[in-house]
Amino acid sequence: MANRREFFLKIVPAAGALAALPGVGFAQVAVLAEDEKLAQSLGFRLHTEQVDQTKFPKHTNTQMCAGCALYSATGAESAKCKLFNKIVPKTGWCSGYAKRG
Ligand code: SF4
Repeated sequence: MANRREFFLKIVPAAGALAALPGVGFAQVAVLAEDEKLAQSLGFRLHTEQVDQTKFPKHTNTQMCAGCALYSATGAESAKCKLFNKIVPKTGWCSGYAKRG
């Protein structure tokens, strides 16, 4: 639960701040939870270090949302994932990870 709590303490305020920017329209984008069906099917975790290596042997801890081509921002603590169409933390990971070119 500490991880979930940490996520909401850090990510939700950041998302709210971004929503206040003109033209961002962030307020209508939901935050992805690990226990959502699609998130579970793709092994999504809020922290890349928590990925089950037995299920995803090609995963490495250097892979995270911040370096994924589907992460819609660079340098942000959280951003919309184009795969889930929801907000994910930069520390997250799922099996849809595609290294940013
Ligand atoms: Fe993160 Fe990329 Fe998976 Fe989206 S597709 S959750 S940005 S690793």
